[in-house]
Amino acid sequence: HVKKTGKDRYSFFDDQMAQEQARRLRLERDLQLALHRSELRIVYQPKWDARYDRLAGMEALLRWEHPELGSISPGEFIPIAEENGVILTITAWMLNEVCLQNAAWQKAGLAAVPVSVNISSHVLDSFLMVSMIDRALQDSGLPASALELEIKESVAMSNLEQSIEQLGRLQSRGVRISMDDFGTGYSSLGRIGDIPFHTLKIDRSFIQQSSLFFKQAIIRNMVAIAGNLNLGIIAEGVETKEQAEFLMTTGCYQMQGFYFGVPMAADSMDEWLHGGGAAGRLAAAGVAAAG
Ligand code: C2E
Ligand code: MG
Ligand code: MG
Ligand code: MG
Repeated sequence: HVKKTGKDRYSFFDDQMAQEQARRLRLERDLQLALHRSELRIVYQPKWDARYDRLAGMEALLRWEHPELGSISPGEFIPIAEENGVILTITAWMLNEVCLQNAAWQKAGLAAVPVSVNISSHVLDSFLMVSMIDRALQDSGLPASALELEIKESVAMSNLEQSIEQLGRLQSRGVRISMDDFGTGYSSLGRIGDIPFHTLKIDRSFIQQSSLFFKQAIIRNMVAIAGNLNLGIIAEGVETKEQAEFLMTTGCYQMQGFYFGVPMAADSMDEWLHGGGAAGRLAAAGVAAAG
């Protein structure tokens, strides 16, 4: 009867919570060693300029292959790395690797475009961030203008004073800064100009529902805001030709998503670049740029 069912359900959820907690504790412990055990890998996803049909940049993303649990998504392990502070060590390592790799691609004439690294809240708050970046640029010889930092709107806006200070120092070196997941962070638009952003990156939730009239209206307005503030604009999560075509009509020509290219290990990216990347993908569809 009711009472028994209630008790059973209670213990079922109890059980599930205990399991989730155990997994979290395990991931937290294992993450401390993951870097040294070479379980972390970096993949690169192209950003495509649909107007000139050429590569515009690339974003470095983390992957964790756990020896027993298989691949763990960044959505699961980045928050854990944030909480226990390991994100600092991981980001320092990543910045070094990414700058070296990008410098190599530039040198080979394969990709003369900036590479971006995602910066989480704990890293943005750390006094170590600027020196980490200086170090990576110095060791790789990569020009500062070839490095871009992606910072989520919610993160940049929640610690505004700190963000302005730290990002100002980086901007003065020539590092580029983009606002990730634009449209999801409830930012006061009035303060966008206070942070030295170069680019706004429209969140994929808008793009993937871009057949909806009101999402289209919001996207057009985001493009207008970027234009009026003299900022670049890019759309993430572009999966279909229709989405890309719609974006062209708004004046948003930079795009990132599975339609153009998935995140790839460096050697696959090498092959992809040698093969011409996504060249001709939209041109073949007969799309013309607006204006
Ligand atoms: P993000 O920075 O907004 O990255 C975009 C995410 O969307 C990536 O997921 C990417 O693989 C995925 N994506 C790209 N194109 C498409 C598409 O066409 N359709 C769909 N459905 N998804 C697409 P991923 O790699 O799982 O990363 C998720 C989030 O984890 C990232 O969001 C970022 O916030 C965080 N993250 C990943 N790597 C790092 C890192 O090295 N450092 C930090 N701090 N965060 C990271
Ligand atoms: Mg990003
Ligand atoms: Mg994003
Ligand atoms: Mg996103």
